[in-house]
Amino acid sequence: MAQWAVQEAQRIMGPARDWDEIHASDLTQCLRQSALNRKDPQPMSREEAVRFAVGYALQEYFFGSEDPSQEFDKVWYSSDGFYRELPDKSILAVLEFKSTGVYMATFDEESIRDRDGWLFRTATYCAKHGTNTAHFMVYFLFQRDIDCFTVVFTDAELRAAEKRMDERRDILRRSFDSKGETLPSSDTRLYDLECTWCPYLVKYCPGRVAPTKALIAEQERQRKERTKAKAATRKKNA
Ligand code: SF4
Repeated sequence: MAQWAVQEAQRIMGPARDWDEIHASDLTQCLRQSALNRKDPQPMSREEAVRFAVGYALQEYFFGSEDPSQEFDKVWYSSDGFYRELPDKSILAVLEFKSTGVYMATFDEESIRDRDGWLFRTATYCAKHGTNTAHFMVYFLFQRDIDCFTVVFTDAELRAAEKRMDERRDILRRSFDSKGETLPSSDTRLYDLECTWCPYLVKYCPGRVAPTKALIAEQERQRKERTKAKAATRKKNA
């Protein structure tokens, strides 16, 4: 049954992407990983299937079915949804559904601004669809609750995001044209954290193994400290 759930999630995600298409999601994560996803695709884990299914179900429930993807400047864009003005249905804002393991109480608008991957991709959706506004609906995995945040990008931010997307597209295109013979450098990652969940770490990025292990150990240390502090507070208040 668990295996069936993983297969179902993979079916909904659609067939593996080909070398000739570049999607916005390929460009807003480590480019080396995007090239490796084509060259050496990895099966989805059960945890990934569950995370994907929860996000997909909630997004469809709140935003309805996604509009078909649209191609701009040789990149395919699939926004989670649009807030439209009636009756002409002009787009007033881009809607994005995100999920996070961060605690809701510590999450605010600044937290959205700190997430380069979320912001970068959404800024390009806004630029391509002629709006400066994005509404983020954030699902907090541990509290099983949602909150919404609005970001209004400046015109300069939108132009900068488009320029960055074009530069990253050109790097990835060169790798795709070589069918992954030439891989983008590991410096194309957006955050060090990406390596902590990347299936290609050991096989393709040996230089990233030690720093990634250190990062995971530091995260674990911080988690234990938070748990200890919470237990101490509970004891004090008992
Ligand atoms: S391990 Fe890190 S640098 Fe290497 S492909 Fe994955 S995310 Fe990119």
